[in-house]
Amino acid sequence: MSKEKISQLESLRAKSKREADLFFSLCENGQNFVESKKLKEALDHSGLKSNDNRLQSLFKRLEAHGDKIVFEDFISIIRTSGLLVEKALRGQLALPDFIDFSKNLDKIFDEVKKLKAGELASYIPPLAEVDPDQFGIAIVTIDGQIYQRGDSLKDFSIQSMCKPFNYCFAMEEIGLEKVHKHVGQEPSGRQFDDLTLLARTVSGNYTGEYAKDNLEGRFSRVPFNPMVNAGAIMTAGLINPEDSYTQRLRHIRQKFGGLIGWTADDSPSAEMPRFNKDMARQENFKGYNNIAMGYLLMATGSLPHTKTDLHKDIHPDEDEFDFYIEPAVTEALKLYFSICSLEMTATDVAMAAATLANSGVCPISQNRVLSQKTVRNCLPVLQTSGMYNASGTFFQEVGLPAKSGVGGGVLLVVPQLMGVCIFSPRLDQQGNSVRGIEMAKRLTSKYLVHTFDGTMTDTSRLDPKLPIARWLANSCGEAIWAASNGNIRTLESLVSQQRDLQTGDYDIRTPLHLASAEGQFEVVKFLLDHGVKPIPDRWGGYPISDARNNNHKKIVDLFEKLDIKYTEPFHLVENPKGKTDKIAKFDDELMVIELLFAATENNVDNIRHLVAKGVPVNAGDYDMRTALHLAAAEGSLEAVEYLVSHGHPLNVRDRWGATPLDEAKREKRKSVVEFLVKYKF
Ligand code: GLN
Repeated sequence: MSKEKISQLESLRAKSKREADLFFSLCENGQNFVESKKLKEALDHSGLKSNDNRLQSLFKRLEAHGDKIVFEDFISIIRTSGLLVEKALRGQLALPDFIDFSKNLDKIFDEVKKLKAGELASYIPPLAEVDPDQFGIAIVTIDGQIYQRGDSLKDFSIQSMCKPFNYCFAMEEIGLEKVHKHVGQEPSGRQFDDLTLLARTVSGNYTGEYAKDNLEGRFSRVPFNPMVNAGAIMTAGLINPEDSYTQRLRHIRQKFGGLIGWTADDSPSAEMPRFNKDMARQENFKGYNNIAMGYLLMATGSLPHTKTDLHKDIHPDEDEFDFYIEPAVTEALKLYFSICSLEMTATDVAMAAATLANSGVCPISQNRVLSQKTVRNCLPVLQTSGMYNASGTFFQEVGLPAKSGVGGGVLLVVPQLMGVCIFSPRLDQQGNSVRGIEMAKRLTSKYLVHTFDGTMTDTSRLDPKLPIARWLANSCGEAIWAASNGNIRTLESLVSQQRDLQTGDYDIRTPLHLASAEGQFEVVKFLLDHGVKPIPDRWGGYPISDARNNNHKKIVDLFEKLDIKYTEPFHLVENPKGKTDKIAKFDDELMVIELLFAATENNVDNIRHLVAKGVPVNAGDYDMRTALHLAAAEGSLEAVEYLVSHGHPLNVRDRWGATPLDEAKREKRKSVVEFLVKYKF
């Protein structure tokens, strides 16, 4: 990069470092503009969609603007969407490493697709006749990043996935306490359509307005919870009971619309779930069990109804009489069947689940649809009862609030992170989608999203809230820096956290190497006492070589006493007296390690995020290794190109004097060698 260009950049930084860093992360070769396509590409990689409402004015301005965006325009353009774009560019959205996350999910999806077990729901034709091979997944984060795969945009019957939402709608209208006069919060341990009710003790002063009929005995009988059929018929019955069926259904569709991003300005039906009337009729026609349940709820007195007197006999002179069916029962059932027959795509359902994950605010419209309190009260019941009689196992294994439906959908809520919906119509014995359950299981075995994972130190699973490079940096960085600075206190606390002090970095440099190089005798002893074994680094060097090279005799003696055959490291330094460029210092040491891991992994998005956060491209670690050394050694060509085009100097030298070009040569990275040689001359 020319001197003149560097000073341009410096003057931008002087104006506003934060904004200049953002700008710089996207412009190449010291240019003073950002290409419009680079900005679009960065947004796409962040998982935000171009049809995202929140980005519409930004895209309009980009269309109107030419290809080259200078600093002032860049800042005013990204400001049109508040902090969203800035967060995306800095890798601060809910899933910071969206591309890596997507790749992992793609892999899981392809494996699970092979599963063909299970049967379609057969009780009504519209469910029995769907294509059994359909399979889709959608994930929406609380920041509105969207992952989609397979049949993620096909409408299907939401069936029981409506239940947590009915429960929320009912709570929004009459409050938690009133709702729970009619339905319990207890896991049932039974099939979803079981007719058993929860017998509960009613306190002496129980005078609930709908429970008058039920005060003779000491027990009130109510559905176990809102997630089994009985409970869902009940919650449906609690939503605006005074209104007509049509008004109620419309109200509920609008509420669902709100959950999936519908706003009052949209055309009325654009974002509302479709109603499949034929499905509802069939549900009614074959719904003997549900109809029985409706009457049972009436019989216990817990179903809301207005008491009417027996009509006057309209056949006074005949043996004929007008058969009475309680309208409160038929209305609750009709509404329940109708809500089960709403159709949504996996993407819609994932959005609704993301609204729950986001404490009631729809991530895309940013509208509050449910109160925080409602969501907070719904999720525990969803967690303990959402998967019917498989809820306990599911909780232990997957550990997430979840709900399935016989239409083949499974929704999962990862609170404060994301909503997930998997759709695949073949069901297991409990009526849960076979592939849906399997996807859910694999999601938690790959990622630390189980409610009780806490901060696990198990590095074989990933924290989706961290970029992979940060995750790797956390697994070793702290211990290595502590060892190199002689900070035994930190090492002690890492030991009690059961952290592995033998874990090496991208060069397999371990705490023992750094303690030896820096002459930290006490640390070396501490590590050996804690069972840490000396292992060779990337170049075959053991810690003893570090101690020797730096004349730390006492440490050399310690290692010589161990019964280990040490090999000598091989470092290639072609021109030790050649030019040496400066390595930058950066206070946040873990961010430096993250940068070097990102370079190792050839993760250009991650490197770009760190640059946008202000990490200098040429920051060095405890061995004066830089991102370019690592990208070169690993043959990560894209990373090499990005670093060089963002001003990374070529002649940086590590602890042993090696430059990135030396490293590329030693590891025989042909394309990187070619690139660096060409760039140099
Ligand atoms: N409509 C179905 C029923 O009421 C819903 C059940 C389900 O999806 N588990 O039986």
